[in-house]
Amino acid sequence: MLLAVEREAVAAACKRLRREGLVVGTAGNVSVRVDDLVAISPSGVDYDDLSAADVGVHDLDGVAVEAALAPSSELPLHLAIYRGTSHRAIVHTHAPASTALSTVVDVIPPAHYYTAMFGGPIRVAPYATFGSQALAANVVAALADRSAALMGNHGAVLVGADLAKVLDQTAYLEYLCQIQLLAGPYPSTQRVLDDAEIARVAEGLAGYGQTSTSTRPEG
Ligand SMILES: [Zn+2]
Repeated sequence: MLLAVEREAVAAACKRLRREGLVVGTAGNVSVRVDDLVAISPSGVDYDDLSAADVGVHDLDGVAVEAALAPSSELPLHLAIYRGTSHRAIVHTHAPASTALSTVVDVIPPAHYYTAMFGGPIRVAPYATFGSQALAANVVAALADRSAALMGNHGAVLVGADLAKVLDQTAYLEYLCQIQLLAGPYPSTQRVLDDAEIARVAEGLAGYGQTSTSTRPEG
């Protein structure tokens, strides 16, 4: 089987997202790129039943290379990101706090230092219909110099060099959004961190946990 290890990793990632409550039903999708091939979760398969063989392999033009099932409807989004960047893994979720916050802000205010984990304040890509090239273009723009973006009125997307790290960040992004929603109802102006502090934390995180591929601030 082509890209057997990567397809297994994609299937395992989908199950983990489901277990952690970051996807509901079959919403969301995961992909890994190797050279000019992309292993991506299929459309409409219950993640509890997902096997490596269900994860199809497509080329960067979206042509099926080895795929028993139809790919995720967000294949155009994944391909657009891979064509324009050096990222190797993408996770897209409809996690509740990320989705809720995507309906009310244009950028997540840098109120928590975890913002540094994502390269700076996380943007919200303007809404466009799921699966469309317009949505792909909006999300690619929102991801510039960032490892995450919210998708307006839709969900979240995270990118990186390594699927395990992107999965870890998916939970941190959902946490950031939860914090923002909890703080949101307070009438006073929210205190945010300036660019210099975000840069300082980013430096600290870069040197943290050097034996691990995962970003794990504090503890
Ligand atoms: Zn979606």
